[in-house]
Amino acid sequence: MYKLDPPSLLFESSRPGRSTAIVPRSDVPDRPLDSLIPSEHLAPSAPALPELGELDIVRHYTNLSTLNMSIDGNFYPLGSCTMKYNPKRNERLAGLPGVAALHPYQDESTIQGMLAILFGLQEMLAEIAGLPAVSLQPAAGAHGELTALLCAAAYFRDKGEKRTKVLVPDSAHGTNPASANLAGFQAVTIKSNAKGLVDVEDFKAHLDDDTAVFMMTNPNTVGLFDPQIGTIAELLHARGGLLYLDGANMNAILGQVRPGDMGADLMHYNPHKTFSGPHGGGGPGAGPIAVRDFLGPYLPAPLVAKDEDGTYRLDHDRPRSIGRVRAFFGNVGVLFRAYCYIMTHGPAGLKAVSDHAVLNANYLMSLVKHVYPVPLGDRCMHEFVASARSMARDRGVRAMDIGKRLIDYNYHAPTVYFPLIVPEALMIEPTETESRDTLEAFATALLAIAAEDPDLLHSAPSTTPVNRPDEVAAAKNLVLKWKP
Ligand SMILES: *Cc1c(COP(=O)(O)O)cnc(C)c1O
Repeated sequence: MYKLDPPSLLFESSRPGRSTAIVPRSDVPDRPLDSLIPSEHLAPSAPALPELGELDIVRHYTNLSTLNMSIDGNFYPLGSCTMKYNPKRNERLAGLPGVAALHPYQDESTIQGMLAILFGLQEMLAEIAGLPAVSLQPAAGAHGELTALLCAAAYFRDKGEKRTKVLVPDSAHGTNPASANLAGFQAVTIKSNAKGLVDVEDFKAHLDDDTAVFMMTNPNTVGLFDPQIGTIAELLHARGGLLYLDGANMNAILGQVRPGDMGADLMHYNPHKTFSGPHGGGGPGAGPIAVRDFLGPYLPAPLVAKDEDGTYRLDHDRPRSIGRVRAFFGNVGVLFRAYCYIMTHGPAGLKAVSDHAVLNANYLMSLVKHVYPVPLGDRCMHEFVASARSMARDRGVRAMDIGKRLIDYNYHAPTVYFPLIVPEALMIEPTETESRDTLEAFATALLAIAAEDPDLLHSAPSTTPVNRPDEVAAAKNLVLKWKP
């Protein structure tokens, strides 16, 4: 329901005869259009374009741009998305003509610089992972999961083993079981224990010779590091299975520990969550994967290779490769930003990123958890999951109401109702780039909201043109085109 006047469309504020452009008289002789364009392709009349003055148009777009939250204007405690602020510098670099204007069909000799960058990125991602073989091709984290699982399937096929199951904890991101199914496996859910970590007894009960892969997110989606990963890897390897690490939460452990050293055999990165790829607006992202040496031959072809004379080339000669999963070199613009981010920070800088991400989350948690209980874990990693369960029970105030009310305080809402294992979940992730002042101001807002009248909270937000849109209808009943 609109509380203020809805912003009108340009078509609606159009008035005949108003215009912005002053077009000089045409000196090209008039020719009937259908002598140039076959008549069946001509519309019966010219499209009715809106007619407005320039200032009206400027105001229209400027005002529209202020209706949305944005990371440049507001704090985004949205959990499970890791970094949100991307240094402007990387955007500027990615827009340089030598980068943005390259064409993937150019001859390799003319794109040696970009190939060197992609090769360097492969090497750096291998080092951060502690896993030697890297493919940059996948287009997103979920696509990386699928690609890695297809490599695992090819590996078992080569070994003559018919393994059918992929084990996935119940706290996992929904893409994990979806990728397992798409790759031809059966996804089997493993329970979490009372601490929010993998229930190792349940894991053991499901682990058998049919188990191909265990997919683990560590730190997990509850914001907790699972120290059982070493034990899990040993048990799994003893049965011939492979350990997959979902790297969406790498921000918390960059430069602190390497997935390969913890026993992971395959992993994906989300550069749009960890290495300053733009996040939001529907992409594009990227989902590079890193795998152990014996899985390297199955990676998608081509990889970027470096010859002894220092020339870079695309290596297509990979007979055991699962094939291509993405056109050309992957989403180069995103990969390039990841390269800039990693090179700018260097090893010590990346470690500082994870130090600050974890410190900020723990500080914020310490400011609010007496009012917003955090049921799982005393210390968190880069995010924490609070529960509004007691508020819902005692005062009828739900996680959704708190998220909506935060908008009135000029904050983006946290992630709500995920992960599923925490009731009335408020998943809060401040990230490494926020100052102490911002964290304290946000905590003050959260505490103030907890004391507000439940009726006010149920109708929040009150400062936006629309307060509670019907989100299901908005997603299912798309109206994307203006009709007169
Ligand atoms: C975001 C996320 C994914 C999926 O990554 P996309 O890049 O969005 O496809 C997988 N697992 C976890 C834990 C995530 O947070």
